Amino acid sequence: MNSTRLPANSHSLLNEIQALGIKIEDDGDLTVREGGAGPTDHKAVSIFKTTVMIPVLSPSAESSPFIATKPSKMGVASLKRDGKVLTTIRFIGEPRFYSEKSSDGIPFWKIARLHSKDVLATTVLQNCIRYKNKDTSCQFCAIEESLKYDTTIAYKKPKHLAEVAQRAVALDGVSQFIMTTGTPASTDRGAKILFESVKAVKAAVDIPIQIQCEPPDSFDWFTKLKDAGASAIGMHLEAVSDRVRNRIMPGKAEVSMAYYFKAFQAAVEVFGRGNVSTYILAGLGDTQEEILSMSERLIAIGVYPFVVPFVPVRNTPLENHNSPDKDFMHGILDPLANLLVCAGMTSDTLASGCAKCGACSTLSIFEKKHSA
Ligand code: SF4
Repeated sequence: MNSTRLPANSHSLLNEIQALGIKIEDDGDLTVREGGAGPTDHKAVSIFKTTVMIPVLSPSAESSPFIATKPSKMGVASLKRDGKVLTTIRFIGEPRFYSEKSSDGIPFWKIARLHSKDVLATTVLQNCIRYKNKDTSCQFCAIEESLKYDTTIAYKKPKHLAEVAQRAVALDGVSQFIMTTGTPASTDRGAKILFESVKAVKAAVDIPIQIQCEPPDSFDWFTKLKDAGASAIGMHLEAVSDRVRNRIMPGKAEVSMAYYFKAFQAAVEVFGRGNVSTYILAGLGDTQEEILSMSERLIAIGVYPFVVPFVPVRNTPLENHNSPDKDFMHGILDPLANLLVCAGMTSDTLASGCAKCGACSTLSIFEKKHSA
């Protein structure tokens, strides 16, 4: 099979590869980040004409039937299953901006990271009020781990973000900037820090920006963020039932679902349908029915439910928790993609954000199957 020819079942195969991960025979120079928000134990892999984040360090990847040969200097490898070559894949290499520094001497790779093949991503504030206490922390989260490994800095100042964005656009042609943040103690929940960050980046370079935070106290922040230049916002539910929210994310679960929905509605009025999204981690205990019925409610008010398979991250309380299997994901992504296509709210219609990047889920690939 040649990598330029798509197999008819590529959506199913990609879903399975993302669920099980890839074991690399010899990972040579491939680097993977320790801790942090976003996909930390993954590698971005180009496969079947798309780029997806694939677990390569999780326990399931260790025993995955999908095995990549030692990547070449260009990151190219053969992907095998049961000894048979399935296709050629390419691990996305380090971007050029990683070799440069900010004007105050901080390596750019500590300020922002390349996600997928062309997304710049940062965690503006690498601390979170909920993180240090196990009664409040989200059990899947590793936000402060990368600080321990000195692979990031605690606070990325607006000027840091402006400088890195400018160079990442110039050197690597990044297409969007995603800014998330740990939650500070202030009632704006990080909106103010994001506002200052967006303003500085937009003054330096014209790039679509998605910001991600918890619902703030005042919904006026949505207008301020939009006016500063953000084109989309993510407010992440992560789990959808109170049962799982209380168990997995006891601190964040204190923000009620009713408040999330009020915030979603206010944000859609400002950013427009689809440009408000929410991450939902499948595999933490919510049933397929619970995730699908929540997704229906979200789509009805113009919010894009970005459902991704949970992947355990090392050094978190859930590091030994299994990822959902391919059938569980298929049972959600297939009907969900159909709902999104019918609503005219597919990944390719969005202005910016994780749902536009799409690499942490195969949802957008299922959308293409339903659009065909
Ligand atoms: S979907 Fe979001 S978290 Fe995942 S690779 Fe893309 S930008 Fe990063």
